[in-house]
Amino acid sequence: MTAFEPTGDTQVFGIFGYPVRHTLSPQMQQAAFKTHKIHAAYLPFEVHPDQLKKAVASIVPLGIKGVNITIPHKEKVIPFLDEIDPEAEKVGAVNTIKNNAGRLIGYNTDGRGYVASLREAGVDPTEKAVILLGAGGAAKGVAIALINAGVRELIIHARRAEAGAALAAHLKSVSGYAKLSAEPSDAAQDTAVKTARPVLLINTTPLGMKPGDALPFPASHIKADWVVSDLIYRPFETPLLAAAKKIGAETVPGLGMLLHQGALAFEIWTALSPPIQAMNEALLKAFSHPRSR
Ligand code: NAP
Repeated sequence: MTAFEPTGDTQVFGIFGYPVRHTLSPQMQQAAFKTHKIHAAYLPFEVHPDQLKKAVASIVPLGIKGVNITIPHKEKVIPFLDEIDPEAEKVGAVNTIKNNAGRLIGYNTDGRGYVASLREAGVDPTEKAVILLGAGGAAKGVAIALINAGVRELIIHARRAEAGAALAAHLKSVSGYAKLSAEPSDAAQDTAVKTARPVLLINTTPLGMKPGDALPFPASHIKADWVVSDLIYRPFETPLLAAAKKIGAETVPGLGMLLHQGALAFEIWTALSPPIQAMNEALLKAFSHPRSR
C-alpha cells in the first residue's frame, strides 16, 4: 500500500459514527477520489453521542467538505443542519452532509442506494409486492425510495405491531397512494403471503448478523420466483439469502446498497460521476481484509 501524502491542498471528508472503526467507507471513498485525481482524505471520526452537536459545528470552521453520518447519529443530527433535502426530510434521517459554501445540507442516500443495488442486480422493483421485514430507520428509507421508484404494494412485518402500523401510517402520509399494510411478524409464521404480484422480500432487521440468529422469515414460505434481499452485508450471504438460494429464489446481498449509497454521496459532494467499479473493487478488498471482520 502506498502511503497517503497530505499537502496544504488536501480536501477533507469523513464519517461520523459511534463506533466507527469497522466502517468500509474510507477505502471506498478514497478509491473514488483517486480515480478522479482529487487530492482528498476521507477519515473516520468516532463521535460520541454527547459530542455530536460540537462535531457538526466544527465542519464549517475546519473546512471539511462533506461527511457521512452513521449509527447512532442519523436522526439526531437533523436539528444541527441548515437545510434538509426533501427525501431525507420524509425519511427523518440523514446519512450525508454537504458543506455548501458554509451551509450544511443533509441528504439521505440509503434508500436510493438500495434501489440502485436492485437495478444493478437486474431486478426491477416496480411491479413487485414488497414484503418488508422490520420497521426501523433503514426500513423507512428503503420503503420511501421504493415507493418513489413506483412500488405500489408494500406489506410490513414488524415484531411490534405498533411500530409496523406507525411506519405504514407514515408511508401513507408521505406517499399518498401505495397499497400498504402492516402485520405482526409472528403472523408470517402461520399465514401464506397473499398477493397477485411477484414478491420482493427485504430483510431490514439485524437478524442474520450473529451466528445462531433465527431466520427473520420462515424459509418454507419463500417461493422460487421471489427475489430475496438482505440489508445486512456482514456476513456477505446471510442465512436468509442462503435459504432463499436453496429454494431457487434470486438473492441480492446488502453490500450493493453500501456501495451505491456511498456512490450517491460522492456525487452529492463532487458533482462528478461516481466510479462505481473502482469503489466496488476497494470495498471488496476492504471487506475481505481480516481487520474488517
Ligand atoms: P433499527 O432502526 O434499529 O431497526 C431495526 C428493525 O429491526 C426494527 O424494526 C427492530 O424492531 C427490528 N428488530 C431488531 N431486532 C429484531 C429481532 N431480533 N427480531 C425481529 N425484529 C428485530 O436499525 P436500522 O438502522 O434500520 O438497520 C437495520 C439493518 O440494516 C442493520 O442490520 C444494518 O446493518 C442494516 N443496514 C445496512 C445498510 C447497507 O448499506 N447495506 C444501510 C443501513 C442499514 P424493534 O423496533 O422492535 O426493535
